[in-house]
Amino acid sequence: QEEGNTATGGLRRRRVLVFPLPYQGHINPMFQLAGLLHARGFAITVFHAHFNAPDPSRHPAYDFVPLPDGMSAACTDDTAEPAVIATIKNIFAVNTSCEASFRERLAALLEAPGARDDVACLIADAHLLTLVDVARQQGVPTLALRTGSAACFRCFLANPMLCDKGYLPAQESQLDTPVRELPPYRVRDLMAISRNREEHDLTCKLLSRAVEAARTSTGFILNTFDALETDELATVRQDLGLPVFDVGPLHKISPAASSSILPQDRACLEWLDAQAPSVLYVSFGSLANMSGADLAEMAWGIANAGQPFLWVLRSDLVRGAARVTLPDGFDAVTRERGMVVEWAPQEEVLAHGAVGGFWTHGGWNSTLEGVCGGVPMLCRPYFGDQMGNARYVELVWRTGLALEGELERSKVEEAIRRLMRSEEGGRMRERAQELKRRAAEAITDDAAGSSLLSIDKLVNHILSLSL
Ligand code: UDP
Repeated sequence: QEEGNTATGGLRRRRVLVFPLPYQGHINPMFQLAGLLHARGFAITVFHAHFNAPDPSRHPAYDFVPLPDGMSAACTDDTAEPAVIATIKNIFAVNTSCEASFRERLAALLEAPGARDDVACLIADAHLLTLVDVARQQGVPTLALRTGSAACFRCFLANPMLCDKGYLPAQESQLDTPVRELPPYRVRDLMAISRNREEHDLTCKLLSRAVEAARTSTGFILNTFDALETDELATVRQDLGLPVFDVGPLHKISPAASSSILPQDRACLEWLDAQAPSVLYVSFGSLANMSGADLAEMAWGIANAGQPFLWVLRSDLVRGAARVTLPDGFDAVTRERGMVVEWAPQEEVLAHGAVGGFWTHGGWNSTLEGVCGGVPMLCRPYFGDQMGNARYVELVWRTGLALEGELERSKVEEAIRRLMRSEEGGRMRERAQELKRRAAEAITDDAAGSSLLSIDKLVNHILSLSL
């Protein structure tokens, strides 16, 4: 800890309130950020919805304020509705259903003796605009955390322009049109891509609310690092005109987050210990799902590629199925050279020397974890920012491949071979190793790491705030 740059450097301990969006890919970075602020001396209070609630016993140093959210009904799987629409509606539902209880509980917290001096700010997920507004109305300064890339947020900012210029809503015939204003995106890589009008409108609303949460806050936090997204960060800074703190890769700075919703199967780490450095790690994050037919094509593609593999098969990975069933005969392949788990300690898996490649859906946390693991990536994006992240992996950092179109076993097999065993894959691996070094530099003291400097600025910014 640096002198004068900690929350306890002064006379009193300042408190940071955090409010994560209750999805795994949002909970992890918020807890990692809380962990790093706690290490700098801040007290932490976590406000949270009941839906996907964190387990306070795993974070004994923090205070927790659960809010009744009436969400369980909204969150039961409505399979009649596309996953993206259901997820966006849930995000809006968290905002509205927590509004009144958050107002009440925040007011109660601020009435406690000395609280107005102790509380420094609220850091809320950028998708919680309603709650950002509630805090501001009560005089609490806010910061917004966006858990995607800077490139993705640049698209959020550009979304009205993309609609004005007619890129969106997308026409079938335009999907491969390059978006000149946002290279290397094509129309199909944009977030508000849906040709379903309801989904398009909901996505536009989601993006504009996140931009408003940033614009109405005192600062904006991104889990990325300068060397990875130099130009994208510069654009976001210029457009927002606010302090923007690039504090990533958070999982490498903050002690491993024990914020996993599903139990992690740690036996796979032992299995990895016994493997040569050539394992393909396959995981599609916490939300993406696929058809049973795609799962079978994936399985046979993995089998035919002949590579050792560690495969995360979430029990709800297959749409409309109560559990995941692998094709007959696949068990023998797993026994010979693989392991299948329901949920892995992914940060540790990707840092393990035996992992030589990562087949990912391209969620931003997974992408960053892959970058820090220095492994080439095979990206199969499903929705949201995943298409854009795959584009960056393939064309900007050139550390992997995107697997597009119909999922067929022969294409899967070929893509795995290219990634893991070809000369081209070897060059991707070299670039991935270089990016891993740049990520490590961003968080080293000696090299005046860009993210550590940004965290110092963030700490000073928070200490300068008062109610
Ligand atoms: N994750 C994990 N175990 C798994 C798969 C994923 O702990 O088996 C974690 C992963 O490390 C990441 C998060 O879940 O931090 C997923 O976030 P991401 O942004 O990649 O995708 P999302 O789930 O939001 O689509």
